[in-house]
Amino acid sequence: MDFKLLEKTLSDHAQPHFRARQVWAWAARGAAGFEQMTDLPGALRATLAERVPFSSLALQVETRAGDGTVKALFRTVDGHPLEAVMMSYPARSAARVRRSVCLSSQSGCPLTCTFCATGAMHFARNLSASEIVDQALHFRRSCELDGPLPSNCVFMGMGEPLLNLDSVLAACERLPDLGISHRHTAISTVGWIPGIEALAQQEMPLRLALSVHAAEEALRSQLMPVNERHPLRDVIDACRAFYARKRRRVFVEYVMLAGVNDSYAQALELARLLSGPERSTAERRPGATRTRRAPGGPQDSASRGERNAAAIFKVNLIPYNPISAARRAGENGSLRPAYTGSTPAAIAAFRDALRSRGIPTTVRLTRGREITAACGQLAGKGVS
Ligand code: SAH
Repeated sequence: MDFKLLEKTLSDHAQPHFRARQVWAWAARGAAGFEQMTDLPGALRATLAERVPFSSLALQVETRAGDGTVKALFRTVDGHPLEAVMMSYPARSAARVRRSVCLSSQSGCPLTCTFCATGAMHFARNLSASEIVDQALHFRRSCELDGPLPSNCVFMGMGEPLLNLDSVLAACERLPDLGISHRHTAISTVGWIPGIEALAQQEMPLRLALSVHAAEEALRSQLMPVNERHPLRDVIDACRAFYARKRRRVFVEYVMLAGVNDSYAQALELARLLSGPERSTAERRPGATRTRRAPGGPQDSASRGERNAAAIFKVNLIPYNPISAARRAGENGSLRPAYTGSTPAAIAAFRDALRSRGIPTTVRLTRGREITAACGQLAGKGVS
């Protein structure tokens, strides 16, 4: 719902201030239209229905995968495509399913990560806060009456959320009314440093996720050209500063590409990067005047580095989701590289190498691949 238009329409009709909140409360609870808002005067409901489109997005196609993943392709009023996804996960304990929505912050993406389908499509523009919230509201409305509602949100759809931070944060402020708390909301970035710094300064306890994909600068620049602008070492420093301020662990995403970034040596390089420079006790505790010598020498200082990383970073290995040639074709006809995903055995070995260095590591469950709804597959084209 276009909140600005709603507020203007309400004030044009001399409505009290609380009306906007009233309308929002209904929408957030999954109302399908103004006519359901029974505590609004009937005439006002009719006026709103006439003047304020209930959603700022038009749903074009919705597809459902066998694993319960739903992908929605929308168009903005000015015709730009965007996609959003709702995933269902079996709950860890009881029979209850957990649901998570994956939202887009831009139509297309101005960055050109070589393994991502969104990076090959035309970048149109930033989405407004209303357009972001409307993706979540769409799924909120589509949940069965007795079914679980989404409780988690990730900004891992199309676009780079930190290039559209104001709208993303305005959308995040509304998500708790849908049952999605700030603690259960994650913003994923390629490592846009000014955005990480801005995110660290605001109050909501949002989660930060960082797409790393390679620990060596040269390889990362090849995979993600944005690394030339914001080199990984500086990005990691910004993440440490984020942690120092927010005390929220940073999730590291690492897509597993066979023969490119999945060797044992590369796992150790990633562990070293995340463990960070070994610091003395005095450095770690500003104000401490005397450093007590740790028994055991270098061995002990290495494990200090590991403990430090374990507190700040958690790695999530992402099995590569294939991108068809049609989706790899750039606008100018250039074809971007084809990658092969690492084998399950290579992923497990990489995970174990990180764990052996004290870095908490999990492997992401793949959802929605058959409907091209999985990470990196969103291209604004529906299923084809
Ligand atoms: N621009 C932000 C938000 C998008 S998140 C970011 O890059 O973090 C989408 C996640 O899926 C990112 O971690 C991205 O690197 C990853 N991804 C992209 N293409 C992928 C692919 N083909 N297979 C698996 N993951 C992919």
